Amino acid sequence: MDLKIAGKRALVCASSKGLGRGCAEALAEAGCTLVMNARSAGPLEAAAQEIAETHGVEVTAVPADIVDPEGRAAVLEAAGEVDILVTNAGGPPAGHWTDWDRGDFIDALDQSMLAPIALMQALVPGMMARGWGRVVNITSRSVKAPLLPLGLSNAARSGLTGFVAGTSRQVAGSGVTINNLLPGVHDTDRIDELDDVVAAREGIGRDAARDQRIAGIPAGRYGDPGEFGRMCAFLCSAHAGYIVGQNILLDGGETFSTI
Ligand code: NAP
Repeated sequence: MDLKIAGKRALVCASSKGLGRGCAEALAEAGCTLVMNARSAGPLEAAAQEIAETHGVEVTAVPADIVDPEGRAAVLEAAGEVDILVTNAGGPPAGHWTDWDRGDFIDALDQSMLAPIALMQALVPGMMARGWGRVVNITSRSVKAPLLPLGLSNAARSGLTGFVAGTSRQVAGSGVTINNLLPGVHDTDRIDELDDVVAAREGIGRDAARDQRIAGIPAGRYGDPGEFGRMCAFLCSAHAGYIVGQNILLDGGETFSTI
């Protein structure tokens, strides 16, 4: 299918690896010009070069912390006018609800709620003025059903979800859609780290922790960042203009709910 977004300019945050990279790759495959970002310059530049060579599109790499206001300003300056924004960053740490103090909550809010909101506030007005735009926020299935060790994620991402629910309806009339993609378990370094926490707690290996987790996923496997990215590219496509303010689960059926 031609997604009809060739030549559009896309900013994909936190995209040197994992889900962000999957989104960058799929948008490049659809012919978008990319601005990619991550904190570590080396892996980011390597990923940008690989994507540019594979898909023959222009890719600008901006090493910066997207959660830090100065880093974000540098990314926005390099990005200029963009048609497509994919927000992403690392996830809050796991723990127990009694562990976290105000500072931990502020950090989680900065990372998983306020940074994506600031990016939307910076870029959506331009999209509206030009009459077309797409925003996809990478959140988590934790907004549909809480993940017990990830209370910081449950809380902060719910704040972003509430913001998107209202704002997406305020901008849709100008040709701009905002939606959230909710990953379940996808095969990335972040998931390896979380599996290692379980393995250490239970005195088992990472593979055993992974098998335990897969047993609870109806699809019988972890998701792949490539399939995640292609869903993101579809939401950014010309064909997805009537999808507004949705929270789309990509979790292999792991979250049990009827609708
Ligand atoms: P990942 O494989 O660890 O990749 C994270 C990417 O984000 C890297 O490119 C990393 O590069 C970059 N990054 C992290 N913090 C950043 C920051 N402050 N500024 C700029 N770039 C930053 O993680 P992932 O699995 O793709 O997860 C992405 C997001 O989805 C996370 O918020 C995670 O909690 C959420 N999520 C993932 C899953 C899953 O199944 N994988 C499930 C639910 C939710 P640098 O380290 O160089 O900055």
